[in-house]
Amino acid sequence: MSYQKIFLFDFDGVVIDGMYEYWHSSLLACEKYLDSPYISVDQKLYKKVPTSFKEIRPWVKYGWEMILIVHEIIKRENPLKNHNQDDFINNYHQNCQRILNDNSWTAEDLQKILDKSREYQINKDFKSWVNLHNPFFEVINFTKELNKRGIKTGIITTKGKIFTEKILTQLNICPEFIFGYESGTKVKIAENLTQTYEILGFIEDRKKTLIDIKQNSQTSHIPCFLADWGYLKTTDRYNLSNEIKLLKLDKLEELVAI
Ligand SMILES: [Mg+2]
Repeated sequence: MSYQKIFLFDFDGVVIDGMYEYWHSSLLACEKYLDSPYISVDQKLYKKVPTSFKEIRPWVKYGWEMILIVHEIIKRENPLKNHNQDDFINNYHQNCQRILNDNSWTAEDLQKILDKSREYQINKDFKSWVNLHNPFFEVINFTKELNKRGIKTGIITTKGKIFTEKILTQLNICPEFIFGYESGTKVKIAENLTQTYEILGFIEDRKKTLIDIKQNSQTSHIPCFLADWGYLKTTDRYNLSNEIKLLKLDKLEELVAI
């Protein structure tokens, strides 16, 4: 039996640059739904993504962490700025946990208000919300090239499935499937997919996820590519094992020669 060939893609930082949308939606979530005495949201904040938010982005795994980071950046007292940013990212996961505890928040609650913020914008002005995302057209062209060759496209993301679907529809991309944060870990998803598909590659901008794929015996055969155009930590580009290839945006087409 021959398996259907497929290429897997992460979404944020790989298919689209969602930096501005994340800032915008998280800020709106803080303003409308997060009942915190430590912040007040100045409308000017919506205009530009702060450097600190961009710099912390490579550490983020789930959407709810963005709400927490925005809260820390816009706090009146002791906001997250250059001087304390290194301390924050050096113990990133512990700091996120501490901030959740200090404020009596749960990750689920923060994820819910992020989703609510997106739903609010979609209902109010769908086009404006879509326009907050910047697609990587090279990647979109690459999925079209795959399609011509009878190779399917699959999306595995930690964004909500429904939101990912809406953006992809606007971009005229119809993947074989989309798995969002609701579907569990990417390794588990990939493991299940190996039962049905011949996976030609997985393009992702979170190095740790690719390392996990390579360390799992069921998925270690999947060719893994670290997206050079995504949200990488400076150190991600170095000390890459032979098994994970750094992929440049202008070299995507070479992959179809596989
Ligand atoms: Mg990503």
